[in-house]
Amino acid sequence: MKVIIIRYSEIHLKGNNREFFESALVANIKTVLKEYRYEFSRSNARYVIRNFDQTRLEDMIDAIKNVFGVHSLSIAEEVDSVYEQISSAALQFAPASGTFKVVTNRADKRFPMQSMKVSAEVGGDILEQNPHLKVDLFAPEHTVYIDIRENGKTFVYGETIKGVNGMPVGTGGRGVVMLSGGIDSPVATYMMAKRGMTLRAVHFHSFPYTSMQARQKVLDLAKIVKKYTLHMTVDVVSFTEIQTEIHEKCPEEYMITIMRRFMMRIAERIAKIHGAGAVITGESLGQVASQTLESITSTNSVATIPVFRPLIGFDKDEIIEIAQKIGTFETSILPYEDCCTIFLPKRPVTKPRLEHVLKVESALDVDALVENALNSIESVTIE
Ligand code: ATP
Ligand code: MG
Repeated sequence: MKVIIIRYSEIHLKGNNREFFESALVANIKTVLKEYRYEFSRSNARYVIRNFDQTRLEDMIDAIKNVFGVHSLSIAEEVDSVYEQISSAALQFAPASGTFKVVTNRADKRFPMQSMKVSAEVGGDILEQNPHLKVDLFAPEHTVYIDIRENGKTFVYGETIKGVNGMPVGTGGRGVVMLSGGIDSPVATYMMAKRGMTLRAVHFHSFPYTSMQARQKVLDLAKIVKKYTLHMTVDVVSFTEIQTEIHEKCPEEYMITIMRRFMMRIAERIAKIHGAGAVITGESLGQVASQTLESITSTNSVATIPVFRPLIGFDKDEIIEIAQKIGTFETSILPYEDCCTIFLPKRPVTKPRLEHVLKVESALDVDALVENALNSIESVTIE
């Protein structure tokens, strides 16, 4: 019978917390498999999936390998621990060409052959079937694994498929990610989910200056990252009033600086409403005028909870590479305007001084503007 073996990563290092980490991982695997029929079981430090619809094997593998905490997977044949059955299963996993070796692990000492002997005999059977193959014990191109377990059953498998590693979502606290329609913030979302954080998103839009397509683009991005975050709700906040006020009452070169401070205040309020302990942004040091140390200082100074910037030390190329890998890039580069691009100053300050920012900002009724924005929230839960 074909089965899927799932091995987990880092989480086994967590000592007493192991149970907490494992139960999150199992729940998450079950979440991504909710449309499938299967049987799930746990067997020393790995999980085994049986009795699934073979025609859906590839889709299931694709779903499981993207669950954070999964180290690797194998599609295995599970047979009775009888030499003939083991050998014929191994023949299925033998490569078509190149070099190989057989590795046997014998947990069941009642099995009458020692592991070295099993490997040698099965290797011989494989060579007999395909004499063009070569055995290479040190650097083989292919390996066939035989795992003789204590319950009288044996797993036989070939290549292992890499999982995404990381920590299971649900084990790293809660955060609110500031999700724009750009390339960076979906990548930042992925990075924090990878460390086990449970995330929700906030998006600022300036309807009617920004279009419904721009809003939809962000919801589309949220849907893509949900593959990794497992759950996703986007709080869509109207930013029009704030932008209009800043535009009217503050010098234009401070537009972006003051805007960022409002975004941060609102994101933090949303975090507190939902019991989240951090705000996440897609900022990367020096990438644009609003991401110099001085600009980040000015934005950060309104925050009272940690602000995580997982991309801070990344080059754009590196960020793009991840965006392509996680499938957000093509959507991110669609040409819809972001709220940051309206009323854009010709020469934004690149090194705002905090005292000066505070002075400029004092022309505004900050509290009232924040309250109004919070009252405008439309929460969209991504299905
Ligand atoms: P991104 O590609 O994520 O848009 P960016 O390089 O365009 O980033 P900025 O536009 O300066 O950089 O934005 C910096 C960060 O501020 C973003 O990564 C995002 O976390 C947040 N942000 C910017 N605009 C918005 C918005 N309209 N709604 C929510 N968050 C935003
Ligand atoms: Mg942007």
